[in-house]
Amino acid sequence: MADILLPTNTIVHPDKDRFLHEENPFEAMMARFDRAAELLDLEPGIYKVLRNPEKTIIVSIPVMMDSGEVEVFTGIRCIYNTSRGPAKGGIRFDKNVSLDEVKALAAWMTWKCAVVNIPFGGAKGGVICDPLQMSIGELERVTRRYTTGIIATLGPDSDVPAPDVNTNERVMAWLMDTYSMRVGHTVNAVTTGKPVAMGGSLGRREATGRGCMITTREALTHLGMSMKGATVVVQGFGNVGSIAAELMQDEGCKVVAISDRTGGWYSPKGIDVKHAIKYVEENKTLEGYNVGEPVSNEAILELECDVLVPAALENVITTKNASRIKAKVVCEGANGPTSAGADTILDEKGIFVIPDILANAGGVTVSYFEWVQNRGGYYWSEQVVNERLKEIMVNSFAEVLKLSRLHRVNMRTASYMLSISRVSMVHKLRGIYA
Ligand code: GLU
Repeated sequence: MADILLPTNTIVHPDKDRFLHEENPFEAMMARFDRAAELLDLEPGIYKVLRNPEKTIIVSIPVMMDSGEVEVFTGIRCIYNTSRGPAKGGIRFDKNVSLDEVKALAAWMTWKCAVVNIPFGGAKGGVICDPLQMSIGELERVTRRYTTGIIATLGPDSDVPAPDVNTNERVMAWLMDTYSMRVGHTVNAVTTGKPVAMGGSLGRREATGRGCMITTREALTHLGMSMKGATVVVQGFGNVGSIAAELMQDEGCKVVAISDRTGGWYSPKGIDVKHAIKYVEENKTLEGYNVGEPVSNEAILELECDVLVPAALENVITTKNASRIKAKVVCEGANGPTSAGADTILDEKGIFVIPDILANAGGVTVSYFEWVQNRGGYYWSEQVVNERLKEIMVNSFAEVLKLSRLHRVNMRTASYMLSISRVSMVHKLRGIYA
């Protein structure tokens, strides 16, 4: 085990553009949790249980780099809560991963699975490394050694990872293979987000972006607006942002600005998203895309539009810029893009926020479908996957909206209330094992 070198109450990210040091992600999660717990009048015992992760594993990952030198990375897996089922949540590879971030993301996974009512608990994993500077071979060795380090928690009935920031189908294939080699037979339900050729689900890759599109469509309908001609700004052009933008465009929206970590492009006439996706396939990033005007990752958030989709990283909408957000709807494709302090400002401005645990729950919903298909050994068509995803997203949106009107709270608080009540109900039913 590595030394616990990460302080728990401070942000360790040195990257000032990403994290404005307003609050750390765990505090951001807790602020919302506390508010919902208060409104639900949550029992003090259950409150204490739900404020803490069940288990956190920190491992050292020694890896032989291509240079012949040994590098040691730190890997984390946090199992936040398993009362409703196996722990579920992605693994991210990023130089800014911290213990507090992983804990917050694991808690968010717990609430996310509960809000869409799929039978999973919540977990998250992270490896502190810079995957953009690493070769394929180095990434494979990191993945296999990390998998081995956390193998005691993994399993289709205990902890089921998936892709997240900077991880993908290939990483899940290595993880599944490492686990299968260790247990002596192929276990494809140990992870989701795998390549379709080895038990991945059709529609999984698009599922998070599709969920964003569906919840945005529901929000616009609720507000008496239409997808046709609605202007959309998307920050983050990875798996979530690019697909959300493409599907919203297919529904008639006009995508006026997109960005990735190299910066963004703004064109009031509209950007051809399919063309931009092709450009990124060929050039890796949006650098040099040259369609419309260049726009920074900060300025893109403040553009005039109907729908803003922050689909990159945490803490990009904070008390420092929330008053300048002009969108009518914010669809949180990323996990934790808005700080708790910024929530109030967005509310005061009358902005309708579809919170992360609802907006981006399409990914884990189709992960659930993948796990069901693996365990049943029977595979569904893409049409069936998409229909079932739509049903869950539309119903969940309606449930949250109903609760938000009933209690006169925003959609975020209503989502937390719904999910915390579901998780706490199971805790009550199961009781405390002594
Ligand atoms: N990483 C995704 C998320 O944050 C997907 C998790 C999963 O499918 O388990 O929701």
